[in-house]
Amino acid sequence: MCGIVGYIGSSEEKSVSEILVTGLKKLEYRGYDSSGIAVLEDSKVKRVRAAGKLNHLEKKLEDQKFKSEIGIAHTRWATHGLPTENNAHPHSCGSTVIVHNGIIENFRSLLSQRPELHSKLKTETDSELIAVLLDSVLSADNNHKDEEEHFLQSCLKVQQALEGAFAVLALNEKTPDTLIGWKFGPPLIVGKSKNGSFAVASDVCALPEDTEQLLYLNDHDLFQIKKNEFSLFAKGKKAETIQWEKANFQQMEMDKKGYSHYMLKEVHEQPRAVREALMPFFDFSKREFNSTNDELSKFKELISSVSDVLFVACGTSFYAGLIGQSYFE
Ligand code: GLU
Repeated sequence: MCGIVGYIGSSEEKSVSEILVTGLKKLEYRGYDSSGIAVLEDSKVKRVRAAGKLNHLEKKLEDQKFKSEIGIAHTRWATHGLPTENNAHPHSCGSTVIVHNGIIENFRSLLSQRPELHSKLKTETDSELIAVLLDSVLSADNNHKDEEEHFLQSCLKVQQALEGAFAVLALNEKTPDTLIGWKFGPPLIVGKSKNGSFAVASDVCALPEDTEQLLYLNDHDLFQIKKNEFSLFAKGKKAETIQWEKANFQQMEMDKKGYSHYMLKEVHEQPRAVREALMPFFDFSKREFNSTNDELSKFKELISSVSDVLFVACGTSFYAGLIGQSYFE
């Protein structure tokens, strides 16, 4: 599970690359093996990528100050190809650059239908094919009148062609004020701030703190952000109304809260997490199970009618399963 972040707008305090890297840091808890960012500066893609921890990327970014108001970023958990700098996202082809979270399951069949695209691939990843397909759709029609519309229609076309799990963000040098993204499976959340900037991320905690409104994308959604203008396409059809939610950053407790790493924080959070999980089923003042809880009574009924319970798990959950086994017995 990797993370993606995108940003379009301007902030008085931070550059786009700082906003992107701050977002990536908040997504570190999801695990990753490499990272990268791409911004558009004077309508040109500028990419910086690094294998390993985010501080490797930060080190590379130290000597590069971009003048940009739009960018995308990624922490990768390799599924196709080694965790090298070359395989790290963002991936670019022609005028486009993308980040992808997930797996393109029909990657091989798409390539066998379009063998001429093979030579355009420079990495071992499935994701790069998204950039290559996008570039091929964009360059197939040179007679279009409107670059924005052409980029949008090309993304909608590529979205249709993909099977598997994906959250994608895409930029195009010919439409330097536009950010497009779509998802099927992995989460993608759009945040809007008072000053008209938009940010997109795999988790709310990675959005900038001045985010005022949120939109959780559904599967098959595709969005287009043009400067201050946001459009949503659900299953290819433009949405008439968009249900923004108020952002509540007090509820976001995903940062390390003073612990030196996430695992330590999780260990210390266990008593509270168990208590919260039990809350609907257990009356803590009486120290007894809540007899009026429907789900609990259904579960009691179900569990008394079965003869065997099988725990299937691996790693840490295997040990949790062993504890579960003794409780159930
Ligand atoms: N499948 C892609 C890759 O291996 C994306 C993996 C991810 O979600 O980080 O690059």
